[in-house]
Amino acid sequence: MVSTRTTARVLLVLALFGLGVGTAVASPDPGPPKPPTKHKPPPLMRIVFPVLGSAEFSNDFGAPRGHGSHQGVDILAPRHALALAAEPGRVRFYTGSSRAGCMLYLDGASGTTYLYIHLNNDLTDQNDNRGSCVNGVAFARGLKSGARVAAAQPIGFVGDSGDANGVHPHLHFERHPHGGRATNPYRYLLAARRLLFYQPPAAMFTLALSGSVVAVADGSLRLRVNTLRAFPQALTLRRLDRPERLDRRLDRREARRARNRLDGARPRDAPSSGRQGGRHQRRTNPAPSRLAAPLQARDLAAPGQ
Ligand SMILES: [Zn+2]
Repeated sequence: MVSTRTTARVLLVLALFGLGVGTAVASPDPGPPKPPTKHKPPPLMRIVFPVLGSAEFSNDFGAPRGHGSHQGVDILAPRHALALAAEPGRVRFYTGSSRAGCMLYLDGASGTTYLYIHLNNDLTDQNDNRGSCVNGVAFARGLKSGARVAAAQPIGFVGDSGDANGVHPHLHFERHPHGGRATNPYRYLLAARRLLFYQPPAAMFTLALSGSVVAVADGSLRLRVNTLRAFPQALTLRRLDRPERLDRRLDRREARRARNRLDGARPRDAPSSGRQGGRHQRRTNPAPSRLAAPLQARDLAAPGQ
């Protein structure tokens, strides 16, 4: 295990969330019918994955359920995991459904409304059902119903309220274009930006990432990030096991060390992780975040030393 400490300032780069709203234009054509042209489907709008950290889901939209077909996709995640705004918009809390439990609507800027159902109602790590649908339990602290939110802003907590009581905590996520009927969010979730961490603006923070070295190329390091710790928030995300990328310029010595780990040439440094490369741990010096940036490992860059 090798620890390195970088003096480089961490630059958070907020990837812009393209709101590619497709437009369909009907143009009257008085001429002879043209041969059918192949229309490219409009580019998929990339939403923010609505759960922070580890989560699993499958295409269970439309699956038969006791009360009809399943109108969303269930995203399994640890109890109390943060639910994030899939896009910028406005939230509305709703607590009037015993089946949905604690839930909220996100009326997205694109015109699509998202439903976040079965938010948390537990005060402990157990299914105690002692909490109610309030801020800090079901909804993010300080968030008001009717408030505007940014993409990736934490808006609630994953749980098992309503008729999900006692089953694996999950976010039942629905997508309603133009506020209409539910459509399958599955491919949007597949294409979504999955975030590891959310950093409020202008806060000082330090990150510690550990994982396996996957590649060293062009002076940058690629890690399969397994664990991410953020200080002073004391947030720890474990078992990420995701092929995230940490691009950072390395000086020659660091690059050589990393390559050695990758090659297994220095086993003393690199207890085998059972993966392609040796284990690697990196901690950044405290740095202020410059943007209200949802942090993706691939968005970490350290330009220069
Ligand atoms: Zn569901």
